[in-house]
Amino acid sequence: MDTALSGWPFDNSYARLPDRFYARLAPTPVTEPKLVKINRPLARQLGLDPDVLASPEGVAMLAGNRVAEGSDPIALAYAGHQFGNFVPQLGDGRAVLLGEVVDTGGVRRDIQLKGSGPTPFSRRGDGRAALGPVLREYIISEAMYALGIPTTRSLAAVMTGDPVIRENVMPGAVLTRVASSHIRVGTFQFFAARGDREALKLLADHVIARHYPEAASYRDLYDRIIARQAGLVAHWLGVGFIHGVMNTDNVSIAGETIDYGPCAFMDAYHPETVFSSIDQTGRYAYGKQPQIAGWNLARLGEAMMPLFNDDPDKALAEANESLSKYGETFHAVYLAVLRQKLGLTTVEDGDAALAQSFLKLLTDNGTDHTLAFRGLGDGTARTLFEEPAAFDAWEAAWRARLANEPVDEATRRAAMAATNPLYIPRNHKVEEALAAAIQDGDFEPFEALLAVLAQPNEERPGLEAYARPPEGPSGNYRTFCGT
Ligand code: AMP
Ligand code: MG
Repeated sequence: MDTALSGWPFDNSYARLPDRFYARLAPTPVTEPKLVKINRPLARQLGLDPDVLASPEGVAMLAGNRVAEGSDPIALAYAGHQFGNFVPQLGDGRAVLLGEVVDTGGVRRDIQLKGSGPTPFSRRGDGRAALGPVLREYIISEAMYALGIPTTRSLAAVMTGDPVIRENVMPGAVLTRVASSHIRVGTFQFFAARGDREALKLLADHVIARHYPEAASYRDLYDRIIARQAGLVAHWLGVGFIHGVMNTDNVSIAGETIDYGPCAFMDAYHPETVFSSIDQTGRYAYGKQPQIAGWNLARLGEAMMPLFNDDPDKALAEANESLSKYGETFHAVYLAVLRQKLGLTTVEDGDAALAQSFLKLLTDNGTDHTLAFRGLGDGTARTLFEEPAAFDAWEAAWRARLANEPVDEATRRAAMAATNPLYIPRNHKVEEALAAAIQDGDFEPFEALLAVLAQPNEERPGLEAYARPPEGPSGNYRTFCGT
């Protein structure tokens, strides 16, 4: 394999950890690499030349057919609770970390190929990804970024020329994913399950150096991870995002949204909304996400406990004390998110109740979540309700509350437009883009959708169809894991 592709300033700190943290292996070459998309602004942010990435050598690297100079490819080991059941070994079954680069802002970031072939962690999987899920992850992760929510990013998508067999035969593809790191709750669980305290400590030290340099102790590290996760989920709720598969192996220690599988955005507001075909009990429903994040953080606490105290009882007490602050932290951030969405800049006792009664109104009326908040800011919300009387009563209370605000109407409206997006990745638009690409090789709808979602708050003429909810009920919409 040709290894010469200069210009990638790799510095691979995770690959310098002991061998038991990963399996060292190169991606598996594919038949016919074909570029689908390069994220040019992100490439530049990473200090990479987008034209080099788009060149035949670059595309060969993005497909896994050549390994760039300085890359030290590894598949990471991790464990995880999947739908509540502990699996002691999962790991990167279809991904390899090419290496880390320090971006132009001084932040260390992982460059990973997803769909790059089998690894020692593949279990029964083929190590590959289909084009549809790759494009879905590309679209939704970049939309999340534009919405200001911590997330992994998508640097590139390429087709492999090899079919992958799922429910149907699909074109294969590889996503190049960029993350602050790929360390998961399940990474801690992997070592905890093996009683490998030395590895736990090395991992925690690595995490502190990389993500939480201000952490004063392992306990403090845990507290900070809890706070970031609480904030992340609060922001998910604010935009109607449903991750779909919040297993502990899909929870990033850095607090980024990661592992976009059957994820989707809600149209009509309802806390019980579930789209994932594999989530039959609604474990990962929209409104359950805060509780599940707490459950996942409890599993992290169990894994980290040996670092807190040599006495297991004391360690448990410490873990529980940290975890007991999760709910409060989540509610504080969530309330701040809701206040901002309602155009409130000051704090009053009744704000949580005011917000909750609005959400109740949306639930009862099946109102579109995104348009409802956007409509509060631009005065069109009333038109969304079949029975406007209920809205009128709530609106009177909201207006009374706004009367105590120190900001004028125009300022408030501008702030609300900047907070409440108009364009989200609507499921029917995502499906349209995927279908055109898969069935017709037409990537125009994909490109168009990306362009719309890159500026989610900026109303632009001609994009009305992207703002509209689907015709008819969206209750039957299903997403598939796509593995
Ligand atoms: P996910 O549900 O995508 O987060 O994946 C859960 C686990 O299954 C991880 O260990 C993945 O690496 C592994 N996995 C998912 N899809 C595949 C595949 N097609 N081939 C091999 N491993 C896979
Ligand atoms: Mg995963």
